[in-house]
Amino acid sequence: MAEIIDGKAVAAEIVAKVTAHAASIAGTVVPGLATILVGEDPASQVYVASKSRMAKECGFHSVQHTLPREITQAELLALVDRLNNDPAIHGILVQLPLPDHIDSGAVIQAISPDKDVDGFHFINVGKLGTGEIDSAFVPCTPAGCMLLIDRVRGRDLSGLSAVVVGRSNIVGKPMANLLLAANATVTIAHSRTANLPEVVRQADIVVAAVGRPQMIKGDWIKPGATVIDVGINRIPAPEKGEGKTRLVGDVDFNSASKVAGAITPVPGGVGPMTIAMLMANTLTAACRAAGLEQPK
Ligand code: NDP
Repeated sequence: MAEIIDGKAVAAEIVAKVTAHAASIAGTVVPGLATILVGEDPASQVYVASKSRMAKECGFHSVQHTLPREITQAELLALVDRLNNDPAIHGILVQLPLPDHIDSGAVIQAISPDKDVDGFHFINVGKLGTGEIDSAFVPCTPAGCMLLIDRVRGRDLSGLSAVVVGRSNIVGKPMANLLLAANATVTIAHSRTANLPEVVRQADIVVAAVGRPQMIKGDWIKPGATVIDVGINRIPAPEKGEGKTRLVGDVDFNSASKVAGAITPVPGGVGPMTIAMLMANTLTAACRAAGLEQPK
């Protein structure tokens, strides 16, 4: 049976470190995080509320902007511009997805790269792609996955093969870049990949970021592999009662945990790490703005 990687516990450690660091620099700078939520998507409301709450718990200055669905792109850009110029704000997070009438790309690129704590601005994407990781903001979910991998495999992944299933800009691609920077031999698989089970079976480290419930089965996994499941999928759970649902990952946990060496659960694996890394990025942004040494 695989070791279960406890993302909740690792995330709590990071949050405790961030909170202590924020307290130690409070005389010089109070990290400020601004979140922007457009519309009333229930999942986005939950995500933004938990990010704002966690920021407060870390001792940050936390401001949530909740805007009506009908807001124009120009109005949203004007808010981003105001926050870019607000010295009390060090991190700006625009919750995605935005309504169809707004060009998400234009909004993300309008955020100052120095306040882009989600790591989606081209400048930060480019820094990650060229290995300038120390001065970049790395997207929170893949950054969190790397810390979980570190717990099992250490920081240097020389000689190990990694397969990332999924090539999105927010998870798959930055994940692959981080694994490459850690010296893994990296394959990116996606919906057009042939013989996916065979490809996954080569991997010492599997990162699943697909969005398909329980797609990756135990017999796809190399014995002893480290399996990081990014997927969050809600499926019916009739065993809990009529109309009830439960969360599962992209990996079939029951079969995969019998073969893997270590595996993240869903929930309680990658999910809590994402918010913790957002706090870490906001602290880093504040330290950079104040000319303080970056937290390690
Ligand atoms: P996207 O939908 O943007 O990307 C999914 C990727 O999976 C695409 O590259 C797609 O390939 C690939 N894919 C789809 N179907 C298959 C298939 N049958 N075989 C192989 N590859 C396939 O999703 P995200 O990257 O945004 O998110 C992935 C998952 O991670 C989701 O479940 C999401 O909810 C979750 N997530 C969790 C977070 C967390 O904090 N834990 C944060 C962010 C996301 P192609 O490019 O060819 O279409």
